This record gives sequence, structure tokens and C-alpha cells, in this order.
Amino acid sequence: MSHVFPRHCKKTIPTAVRGAGCYLYDSTGKAYLDGSGGAAVSCLGHGDADVIAAIQKQVADLAFAHTGFLTSEPAEALADLLIEHAPADIERVYFVSGGSEATEAAIKLARQYFIEKGQPEKRRLIARRQSYHGNTLGALAAGGNEWRRQQFAPLLFDVHHIAPCYEYVLREEGESAAAYGLRAAQELEDEILRLGPETVMAFMAEPVVGATLGAVPAVEGYFKRIREICDTYDVLLILDEVMCGMGRTGHLFACDADGIAPDILCIAKGLGAGYQPIGAMLCTGEIYETIKNGTGFFQHGHTYLGHPVAAAAGLAVVSKIVGDGLCDRARRQGEVLSKALHDQFGQHPHVGDIRGRGLFQGIEIVEDRETKTPFDPAKGYAAKIKTAAFDAGLICYPMAGTRDGRAGDHVLLAPPFIIEDNQIDELIGKLATALEQVI
Ligand code: PLP
Repeated sequence: MSHVFPRHCKKTIPTAVRGAGCYLYDSTGKAYLDGSGGAAVSCLGHGDADVIAAIQKQVADLAFAHTGFLTSEPAEALADLLIEHAPADIERVYFVSGGSEATEAAIKLARQYFIEKGQPEKRRLIARRQSYHGNTLGALAAGGNEWRRQQFAPLLFDVHHIAPCYEYVLREEGESAAAYGLRAAQELEDEILRLGPETVMAFMAEPVVGATLGAVPAVEGYFKRIREICDTYDVLLILDEVMCGMGRTGHLFACDADGIAPDILCIAKGLGAGYQPIGAMLCTGEIYETIKNGTGFFQHGHTYLGHPVAAAAGLAVVSKIVGDGLCDRARRQGEVLSKALHDQFGQHPHVGDIRGRGLFQGIEIVEDRETKTPFDPAKGYAAKIKTAAFDAGLICYPMAGTRDGRAGDHVLLAPPFIIEDNQIDELIGKLATALEQVI
């Protein structure tokens, strides 16, 4: 009997024993094409020799040094590399062990920043419905996914949610994409004014919504307007690139494509590419200086922050993404994947939308293409697609739709950047088999 407390307690899952390139292998020898990099994690694929060597060297040289006493060479070098490529004004990197820690730290930094500026009344956070920012209590409060929040609602601090920028469902007939983007962004200004700008500290959003909507980028102009609104009301813009960052969309930082820079930026997943658990919260020099010139101490910290081995892995991963031109590759292979999805599912009676950026693509499953009516999530199609794909040897990331936002079930695809054209064909074939079996 296993003594592991698994996520899904009612089913027995295979044991993974090996990873190579775009494939994982279980103890029976069965191969799985990793079509979602787990959950948009394994951007370099499995078994990358350079990352493995960097980890081996670091663990032998220095496994751990507590950051309350000492910094380390890999943490310093990784911070330098990230800042070299980061959006304008982002100057500091605070390392953590994963995505939830990064968003949690971002919320606390926003709060402490305004306290140190002498504006303690600025305490409110605005985020978006159908978003996911992590599973710790602060991050969960920020997220707008009802299913994830429901049972913990009494434990969550009060976050205010506006609609996501979700063109497929929320753009009205006859409305241009640009006009829709402005209308969607207007919700932020309305909410700030309703709450009182002097009470709002930050707005948090994913540039490309991952888990909860399935690779939905904002329409052009939306984030530019969001940035203006944040500037007008002295509200910090926190971008959560935990899933969409680190080259996945074809840019090292996803917000580059939107032509904006945030005040605080969260990354994880692809930063360690699955080789080590690592995330980071990046912030502007102004935020950092405010803390430095105030109490001089960010009132937040975890034992493993800036872990040298995790940082060495992150350094090897980001060096490779940048040095080997993997953002361009993600863009190119993203086009191949997008075309293959359109060729296979463009006319499918239950595929309502195909969208995404780079190697971050999603399809939305609907009951009726014409009316965009989603299936009742109670039918459990997302879970069934996941199982059918897995049985066929494909790991993909289906999620159930949310009735509140009229979002349908969707399948998120985020394969390693090294994926080849023939493996994209294999992915599409297996996904088509799974859909055929379920709907
Ligand atoms: N933010 C986003 C956008 C995510 O997609 C996730 C995880 O899926 C998180 C935060 C939380 O990251 P983690 O699971 O590493 O805590």
C-alpha cells in the first residue's frame, strides 16, 4: 500500500521512472508525449544534459546557504540574467520556490510598499474572474476561479474581481477587438473608482490566461489601457507570468508582446523547467528603493528562497532559452502547432475556439459552435478527455469550464520548446482520438 497522499485519492496512477526529450516513461515502459509540459513546466523537455550538469556541479560545491546570512553565486548570476532581459524599470529579483509563493510575495510586497510610502489605506487588490494565481491562501484569494475558491472562501481575504479579457465569449457582435479591449479595461477603472483609488494597492492579471481559460491572450490595446489606468490611480500592476512566462509565448516575458511593463512580475514553472522548484518575484527599482530606504526589510521570507541548486538550475535553463534562441523556436513551433490545430479541429462541431501565443495554445470545447454554448461542466468532459488522452499516451491539460463566465471546457497545450513537427502531428492525432472517444 502506498503511503503517499495523492491529489486524487480515488485512483491509482502509474509511476514515472524516466524522462527523455518530449516523452515521459512509466514503470511498465509506456511512453507519454508531454503535450503540456506537465502544467507548462518542462519547457526544455526531459533529461537536458546541460541543466543536469549545472545541478550536479552546484550541489557538490554548495547545496545550501541561508539567505539570512549569505548570498550565492548562482542566485546573483540568475538575477543579473533575468534583469538583463526584463521589461523596463524592473530591477530586482526576489527568489521563491514556486508560483504560489511568487504571487503571495507580490501581494505582500504591494501592501508593504504603500505602508512604507505612508499610504497604509491602500490595501485593496483587484484581480479577474476565471484567473488562477496559486493555491496558498493569499494567491487563492486573488484567483477568480470559483471551483478552486469555494470551500476555502471563509479563509480568503477580500479581493475584488473584474471580467477577464476573453474575446471569444465576451466581445459583442459588431464590436471591434480594439473597442472590446477598451471596454474590458474600463471595468478596472470603474472598480477602482467604486472602491476609492486611495484604497486600491494593486491589480493582478495573467498576460495570457492559462489554467482557467486555456491560453487566452488579451486583445491588442487592453494591457496598454490597463497600464494607463494603473498609472492614473497609483495602483501597482502585478503581472502573473508563472505559466505564460520564460519564453513560452515566444517572448522571454509574455508582456513584451503587449508592449507594457509591470511594477511587479511573477515567474516560476519554466524558470526551473521542472529540474528544480524555483520561482521569482521581480519588481521595479522604485519599489525596492522604497523598502530599502524605509524599514530596509521585506517582511516575508521562506527558508528555501534563493536556494543555490535551484538557482543554478534556473541559470542553466534561462541561459539556454536565451542562448539557443528558444523564444524564436517557441514562436515558430507555436505556428506549426496552431496550424495543425486549425487543420484538425477548425471545422470540428464541438471545438468553438482555437487560440494562444507561441507554444501556449488552447482549444475550447462547446456544445454548440454557433451559439458558443458550453457543455454543462457536470458532464465532466474535461476530465474524460484528460483520461482518454493519457490512455492514448498523451499528457495534455484539460480544464472544466466555469458557468459563471460562460467559459467552456478547454484543453491547454504547452509542449517543450524542443518539440519537432512529427511530434506535433503525434500530439494532434492523439488529442483527436481522445476527443472522438469523449464527445
Ligand atoms: N499563477 C499561475 C498563472 C499559475 O498557472 C499557477 C499554477 O498553475 C500558479 C500561479 C501557482 O504556481 P505553483 O503551482 O507553482 O504554486
